[in-house]
Amino acid sequence: MPIIPFSIENCLIGNFFMSDLMAVLLVTALFLLAISITVVRKLTKELPHGVTRRRWYFLGGLILLFFFGYLGFFVLKYGTFYIGSEILVTAILFFGSVFVLLVCLLAYRTTQELKRIYVLEVETITDPLLGIFNRRYLDRRIEEEVLRAKRHKLELSLLMIDIDNFKLVNDTWGHQNGDLVLKHLTQMLVDTLRNTDIIARFGGEEFVVLLPHTPELDALKLAEKLRIVVAQTPLHRIPELGMTISIGSTCFLHDNDNAYSLLERADKAMYFAKREGRNRVVSYSDCELADKPGSHP
Ligand code: GH3
Ligand code: MG
Ligand code: MG
Repeated sequence: MPIIPFSIENCLIGNFFMSDLMAVLLVTALFLLAISITVVRKLTKELPHGVTRRRWYFLGGLILLFFFGYLGFFVLKYGTFYIGSEILVTAILFFGSVFVLLVCLLAYRTTQELKRIYVLEVETITDPLLGIFNRRYLDRRIEEEVLRAKRHKLELSLLMIDIDNFKLVNDTWGHQNGDLVLKHLTQMLVDTLRNTDIIARFGGEEFVVLLPHTPELDALKLAEKLRIVVAQTPLHRIPELGMTISIGSTCFLHDNDNAYSLLERADKAMYFAKREGRNRVVSYSDCELADKPGSHP
């Protein structure tokens, strides 16, 4: 019976000898490194020319070095030459630390890039004066919500809000105070509506509120609440400046309805509210505008 000398490498683990396990681990590591090289190759192709791309090339080179280092170690350990594996392991450990440092640097740089892209993205969808969503975001979001409402048969309502006689505010109190009025209204909208409602500046002194999962009646109640809050909350800096709003309301009709017609109906209802004397809420379904062409005041 052959005598196997005791060494940690010859310890039995289940049905495996430690040396077999090491061989499996080394072959798996080689396989993983090969995958990493292909991923880095694809990644560098996506990156623009510059420092980051060059660093990724360097990182790819290091992975290649590891690959051959592991392969060399495998040959030295399981081939006929045993000597030299220690030097190789030391070299692998050294390049391992360079590799880790490079990965950390690249991760930091990527985080900075992502932060910059995030700020740009926020700026492109935000109104600079009021800090709420702008028309660009609103158009995209209405399309998305309409698709969602269609697909899952959900309720969706939309309010079009316009400040009454805003030109007069500008003419009487100046544009600076006009801007204050816009900010004041924005704050009331944010305070009164839910986080899930979408508030956007449609243009000038017109706002749109998109209300997902909201039936027409609830939207009307909310619009009326908004109208009262605005009419009863004086501007802190100029209490004598009274503000009122007119609101047009509509809901998604599902059959052949789309984002454009949703906005158009709310707009018509809002102008109907203006025509009826301002400071009021009008639902498109109530104002029978469909049969009345030229309903703008
Ligand atoms: P109505 O009740 O019919 O809506 O009357 P209105 O005076 O509000 O009429 P209109 O909607 O046409 O007036 C819009 C005014 O809003 C004209 C424009 O000078 C003003 N405006 C648009 N954007 C801004 C802004 O960012 N700041 C200020 N201060 N005024 C703005
Ligand atoms: Mg107006
Ligand atoms: Mg207007």
